[in-house]
Amino acid sequence: TNAARDFSIEVVRQLKSHGHQALWAGGCVRDMLLGREPKDFDVATDAPPSCVQEIFGEKRTLAIGASFGVITVQGGKRRGQIEVATFREDLGYSDGRRPDDVRFTSAAEDAKRRDFTINGIFYDPDAEVIYDYVGGRVDLRQRLVRAIGDPNERFAEDKLRMLRAIRFSSTFQFDLEMNTLRAIQRHAENIAVVSAERIAVEMRKMLTSPRRVEAVVLLRDSWLFQVVLPEIIPILDHAPRWTETLRSLQCLPGNDFATALAALLRYPAARDLAMIDPRKPVPLLSEICLRWKLTNDETKDLQWLLRHVDLLRSAKDLPWPRLQRLLIDPRIEKLMNLATATTLARGESELHLEFAAERLAWSVERLNPPPVATGDDLIRAGLKPGPHFQGMLEAIRDAQLDGQIATLDEALALARDWRPA
Ligand code: ATP
Ligand code: MG
Repeated sequence: TNAARDFSIEVVRQLKSHGHQALWAGGCVRDMLLGREPKDFDVATDAPPSCVQEIFGEKRTLAIGASFGVITVQGGKRRGQIEVATFREDLGYSDGRRPDDVRFTSAAEDAKRRDFTINGIFYDPDAEVIYDYVGGRVDLRQRLVRAIGDPNERFAEDKLRMLRAIRFSSTFQFDLEMNTLRAIQRHAENIAVVSAERIAVEMRKMLTSPRRVEAVVLLRDSWLFQVVLPEIIPILDHAPRWTETLRSLQCLPGNDFATALAALLRYPAARDLAMIDPRKPVPLLSEICLRWKLTNDETKDLQWLLRHVDLLRSAKDLPWPRLQRLLIDPRIEKLMNLATATTLARGESELHLEFAAERLAWSVERLNPPPVATGDDLIRAGLKPGPHFQGMLEAIRDAQLDGQIATLDEALALARDWRPA
């Protein structure tokens, strides 16, 4: 990031040397003032896009965002790339998502089109001067997320800002300014016009943050939760389940998205989990994963975690091969985290988890003995390789872990009798 920071200062200096105004803008200024490491450094300038492109040369620039004034300047592998945005004003928001058009303007006007005061501060890293046209510094000091201008208008223009407000408020532990919160409640229903993918991006950031409980509470209080995740409605007014869910999100170690979702959806999915064939995916979960376009791995993780968390929570009572199979699963750490969160949230004894943790500390040889038969063994014994081999090997492995077979001969006998399910 030091390289990225230095590069962005270089970009600012170069623009200034051509007689333009150039400033750091938005998140990086906010993060710097908060003493946080900025994720990326955005530069804003009065130079129009064509000028920016000329200054840095066609070879080093990308003009994908040029129509709304953004030129990407490439600094190579180590320094990354910097987005240079021409000061602009957004004109008209007929779809509630994106401006219809933009007009290039001054820094003071550009500040006003940004979402929150804390995101509207500029800084000249070369002269070390702050330009604050929206009262952002005061709100940073007060730890407040406040919409710039009339919050009702701002959320009507772009509904995604409502989720961004919740995200900034929760991850920074800032309060939501009263009128900003009221406006979100008023417009909450309209979050539905935002694509599920963009909603999911925000949900992912919130649920993977250590402040996920604050986020979830704010999502409920702002009435956004009911719209973006209607599956949660049944527990919102069920005090014991809701408090338990919050407590489990609070106690959940790590920052895995699927695990956090699993903690959140434990009760909403409970009925399905009980009714649906355990080998089949739970529809309520599948629907959410599809809607939010989770990755295949995340989707599988979520299903698997909720299918197995209660098993792990009864580790001491499980037949050893059954527990062993859980413990050698690559997802066991996530499952342990979820089981820990659930157990702590319910105020139950951690005996079962301690037992599982002890076993988990066993040597690999003991916990996960080498397979009694490999694909090569089967081929050498004269079996024809093919797509069925994987299922066959799994059956052999299961039988080994179950203690039913222990030698290659027994494995081969099983393979010869094996038929796909
Ligand atoms: P993060 O740390 O999540 O990157 P950020 O504030 O940098 O936070 P970005 O999405 O990277 O957020 O946007 C950069 C800046 O662009 C913001 O600080 C804000 O000034 C402006 N901005 C981003 N999205 C919007 C929006 N939907 N409406 C108005 N201004 C926005
Ligand atoms: Mg950013």
